[in-house]
Amino acid sequence: MTRKHFLKHHPEQTSAAGDPHWIFLTPAQAVDAVALDFQTYGPQPDLFRGLAPLILGTQCRIASPDETWSGVSVFRKNTFDRVENHQLGFYLIHVLETDPPNLNTLADICRQVFQTRTVAGYDRAGTISGIWIRSQMDSFICCQCGQCCRTLDYETGCEESDIRRWRNRGRTDILAWVQQRNAGPSASGPAYRIWVDPDTGEIPQTCPWLAPCPDHADRFMCTIHEIKPEVCREYPYTTKHAVMTGCSGRFAARTNHLFTKNHDPEE
Ligand code: SF4
Ligand code: SF4
Repeated sequence: MTRKHFLKHHPEQTSAAGDPHWIFLTPAQAVDAVALDFQTYGPQPDLFRGLAPLILGTQCRIASPDETWSGVSVFRKNTFDRVENHQLGFYLIHVLETDPPNLNTLADICRQVFQTRTVAGYDRAGTISGIWIRSQMDSFICCQCGQCCRTLDYETGCEESDIRRWRNRGRTDILAWVQQRNAGPSASGPAYRIWVDPDTGEIPQTCPWLAPCPDHADRFMCTIHEIKPEVCREYPYTTKHAVMTGCSGRFAARTNHLFTKNHDPEE
């Protein structure tokens, strides 16, 4: 499982100025992000069944527990077609792509999928309509269990801004663990891999910058905390991201204001 979160790392997403915790996605990007959630986390039966009326319309019928099948039936051509639970994720994405809902419904779908606040509105320039989605990182409290640094995949998480930061600080010891890939204008895929052992060329399972806390035997610390990669700064991106990737930190209650009617996070 990767540390990256597909919301934050959508290539074309934009943040609200002055508030990096809100990102804006066009409807097509939002549907892509929903599809990535389904793909990343696999079947989520309760979520899928909760989304069915929003995506398939009120004419769909969800099988009750005492029926001999499980899934959703969809009213089409004057009859009900059955979609079994194991096919439901694919089916919901297919319908989202071929028959997109209105923006408010899409915001509601995103809220259920990402389990965070969402709102329909316009981008910062006020020209493109889409969905604002809020991360929950600002309320996260890490318990320093070190689990994420031992088990999650950080290999493709290094960005150009990380490289600049380490070069500016003269951290050749960190840069020694970065492997450049796919140089050239036509290159595709991630430009860097971390953390590649300079002696063996292998990527260790546990991050080389993780160390036990001197004062707490059961806690761990990042020895490059101040300059660690963005992918580590942005983990976990939401409560769901934490839960689905085995993070045992917690999210404190927040007191952020709710949006007003013009749906602009800056208002
Ligand atoms: S750089 Fe720091 S936060 Fe990131 S995986 Fe390594 S020890 Fe963990
Ligand atoms: S609480 Fe979460 S973010 Fe903190 S070290 Fe553990 S897994 Fe990583």
